[in-house]
Amino acid sequence: MIRIRVGEAQLRALVTAHDRRWLDKARLRTAEYRRQGRYVEGSEFWGDIKQVYIELQHEKCAYCESRLAGHALASKVHEVEHFRPKSRVSAWPPATGKGAVGFLPPCAVGRASTRGYYLLAYHPLNYVIACTRCNSTLKADFFPVRGKRSTRASTPRSARAEDPLLVYPLGTLDTDPARILRFDGVLAVPRRTRGGDHERARVTIEFFQLNHQDLTSRRARLLGALWLSLRAVQLPGLPDDLRQLQQQSIAYAQSDRAEFAACARDFVALHGADRERADALGSLALQLAAG
Ligand SMILES: [Zn+2]
Repeated sequence: MIRIRVGEAQLRALVTAHDRRWLDKARLRTAEYRRQGRYVEGSEFWGDIKQVYIELQHEKCAYCESRLAGHALASKVHEVEHFRPKSRVSAWPPATGKGAVGFLPPCAVGRASTRGYYLLAYHPLNYVIACTRCNSTLKADFFPVRGKRSTRASTPRSARAEDPLLVYPLGTLDTDPARILRFDGVLAVPRRTRGGDHERARVTIEFFQLNHQDLTSRRARLLGALWLSLRAVQLPGLPDDLRQLQQQSIAYAQSDRAEFAACARDFVALHGADRERADALGSLALQLAAG
């Protein structure tokens, strides 16, 4: 997970540039929900601005950083996800079925609610795009919080007191995910060893199953190649053009647009700080990637 860099004013400008009536329609729809005191099913139009998020997120899932299908198909395989569920909130983790992770949370995770965050159904800072796995299978209508649930909040900022456990990676409302989560080789681990951020990291990792083999095997391929590049640039006598290509590929792997950039960034940092461990993890990644 990486921070998706955009400010609220910039996000609103992008939404308007994409669909100049969208924010007005959103205001009207929200006023209707406020009158009714709940979310009401109707003709939904959040999908109309999906492309804004696809571009901001470089066609990657906000949570697992999988890159999907390229530009042309991205709008088919990515889903617009409401960070705070719009119509109801289920108790997490459920014992069985969708989202059952067999995990005992390290802290309070909030109660279920028959009312969702209905005033945020059309708030641009309540969206990200996510892959089907993260959105439909795992996120569903769960939203664990440590504090008292604020389903009547009219902005994400005013709901912060409920102390959400999942990290919202878009913009600067929430902390940078990299301050909470880090990667030890292919594995997502908490950045801190205890305290509130440690709890958020543990819940986020379990909630999105960030260490599922589906993801670790793909990160292993990335780290294996990255490790070879990091070693190659240090070879004496490497032709300049090859060295430059390797350096470009190392830089790309850490850029916002690269799949699993958070994992790559932590590996490059480790390679600078603790070569022996980086070599051990790099070699292990190559073995994992080879099957
Ligand atoms: Zn995902």
